[in-house]
Amino acid sequence: MRAAVLHEVRGQLRIEERPIPTPGPGEALIRVHACGVCHGDLMVRAGEFPFVRCPIVPGHEIAGVVASLGPGVSYPALDTRVGVPWLYSACGHCPHCIAGHEVLCANGQYAGMTRDGGYQEFMLARADYLLPLPDALGFTDAAPLMCAGLTVYTGLRYARFKAGDRVAVVGLGGLGEMAVQFARAMGGRVAVISSTQHKEDRARELGAERFIPAAAGITESLLAWEGGADVVLQVAPSAESANAALRGLAADGTFVLLAPVPINPDPFALIMRRQRIMGSLSGSRQDLRAALELAAVHGIRAQARVLPLERADEALAELADRRPAGRLVLVSDARH
Ligand code: ZN
Ligand code: ZN
Repeated sequence: MRAAVLHEVRGQLRIEERPIPTPGPGEALIRVHACGVCHGDLMVRAGEFPFVRCPIVPGHEIAGVVASLGPGVSYPALDTRVGVPWLYSACGHCPHCIAGHEVLCANGQYAGMTRDGGYQEFMLARADYLLPLPDALGFTDAAPLMCAGLTVYTGLRYARFKAGDRVAVVGLGGLGEMAVQFARAMGGRVAVISSTQHKEDRARELGAERFIPAAAGITESLLAWEGGADVVLQVAPSAESANAALRGLAADGTFVLLAPVPINPDPFALIMRRQRIMGSLSGSRQDLRAALELAAVHGIRAQARVLPLERADEALAELADRRPAGRLVLVSDARH
């Protein structure tokens, strides 16, 4: 089988021929049908995660089919269509795991970071971390939900979002498009903030009621929106827009960092307006199940552009240089 392998930090992905692995106890072999290209993969290559061990096969937005099962494994059944989450496994017994927040486990393993991920034709996965895919989701629909979709869903959920809330989505790239769709599906009202004026049509098509060009004065525009945003989802890697949006938060509102940008909160405003700032990442299996169901019911889709696995390195370069709209998804030639 073919695999795209990163041998060293800041190196290139090399396509290699490898033997198909054999699943051990507790494992399943997944035939990968689609794998999204995430900003996290760029961070793996750039060496921004100290726990990544090279050589590694990147990729953590994985959708495929159960091809074989390890000894004693009876779930999921062979041929089940499944998603493989970024959280490859967790310890199962720490307080976070017991509470169902396994994504916070200090002893997690991560697909495409500490375990070989989805930039290959077959991969091993922990059987009990696989999520069956709803019928309504094709492989290329499902792949971007495994990280991008889940991340925005949990950002909203743990920000204590409720239907009717005003949600400001800062940035309309792949993650931002997901954020608008999830917020709308969950009953939110959405404003999109973007430095790219021509994205207004797309924002409105996805269901945003307001479009705020970054040059138009983000803070003032948000405060003029019935007192500010109840939730800000910061997906753009821009400190300037983040700090402006933070000041456009409503009383009792929550600012959610989904991109690691430096922010400079006004402590007085935080206290007087009882505001919260939080970060969010991926999610638990329970979160993922809920996100997949929402996506299936509401037709949430990334604008996926499919590329063959052989072009994995090119896909990463494109993501780094041009920040394409929507999501790049790798597939293996042989199946398409
Ligand atoms: Zn744990
Ligand atoms: Zn990701």
